Amino acid sequence: MRTITGDIVTPDGVLSNGLLTLTDDGQIGDIGPARPPTKRSGDIDATGLLVLPGFIDLHVHGGGGADFMHGTPDAVRQVVRTHARFGTTGLLATTLTASREGTDRAIAAARDVQLAGPGEGEARIFGIHLEGPYLCPARRGAQPAEWVREPDVEELAHWIALSKATIRQITLAPERKGAEEVIRYARANGITASLGHTDASAAEAEQAISWGATQATHVFNAMRGLHHREPGTVGAALAHPEILCEVIADGIHLDPLIVRLTIAAKGIAGVVLITDAIEGTAMPEGEYSLGGQTVIVRGGTAAFADGTLAGSVLTMNQAFANIRRFAGVSVPDAAELSSANAARQLGLSGKFGELTAGAAADIVILDPKSGEVYWTLVGGCVAYRR
Ligand SMILES: [Zn+2]
Repeated sequence: MRTITGDIVTPDGVLSNGLLTLTDDGQIGDIGPARPPTKRSGDIDATGLLVLPGFIDLHVHGGGGADFMHGTPDAVRQVVRTHARFGTTGLLATTLTASREGTDRAIAAARDVQLAGPGEGEARIFGIHLEGPYLCPARRGAQPAEWVREPDVEELAHWIALSKATIRQITLAPERKGAEEVIRYARANGITASLGHTDASAAEAEQAISWGATQATHVFNAMRGLHHREPGTVGAALAHPEILCEVIADGIHLDPLIVRLTIAAKGIAGVVLITDAIEGTAMPEGEYSLGGQTVIVRGGTAAFADGTLAGSVLTMNQAFANIRRFAGVSVPDAAELSSANAARQLGLSGKFGELTAGAAADIVILDPKSGEVYWTLVGGCVAYRR
């Protein structure tokens, strides 16, 4: 049985100088105080480093020069390999608004890689997140206008069948005609309905919550904002405990004060860190593509020439470090924000998102100061080593 020695972050707190054992079938054995070193091959000495549950990213489009919309297994594997280097052990392959055929290709590729299981160096795919196409044109952000359309439950049924039930989340604008049927249908199929790219009033958003919506996509970004007489989608998302709020903690999409405010309103259990990363993530600065549109990546920002933000180049280890700085949260709270809350939303609590006996050995080991990743383990196998 291999071991990891380091500062182990469990749901009960940080066990300084602790020891975690890995079972041969890729699970966590037990966790306790470190013993004298035995120096078996495969043991990881992470003394002075944080040993955390691997990050789970519910909203990520690409990285390493690839995008899930490229629609090939090679592109999918390039994205999951890239994010594994930054501590992500599981993610939802996230689509961009596209034609039915374009979405079909992306779904088929992500499905095939997910069902094959993670290869060497790869994060797991927990499922597919459809971002669009049922969005508000005026709040579409970087989503291509020509493919934004009205909610269509028959089309969603087609995609669920094509995906072999691997779709786990859909982002939609609840004020559009047909949204109630799609939200109810999504929920009946175990898919999270997430409010996003929407101009919904607070009342419309509350109605969507009554239909079964349980998440808000990159809260504040691309949705009707907070006004004290019209609280908007943002107000409803912040006020209602049923809603888990996605936060892009790159310091660009949201002022750090807004991040702090969101956590104050929602509590730790009500927020989930995402990247919204695009293909230019972990790549040199320059021009990249998003849905056929040119994106300029410079100075940590991904945007169109007109300044419209077009996803991010954020990685989860950076989000983890940023949230501690922006909102002053503890290490165990940051672990919930970056892993456990996403696992809970996916119905995977106890198996993923936490370092406890019997959970999958999906682990990230990083420097507590710089956030730099030293090791990523997926199912007990080393997916990345610095
Ligand atoms: Zn978006």
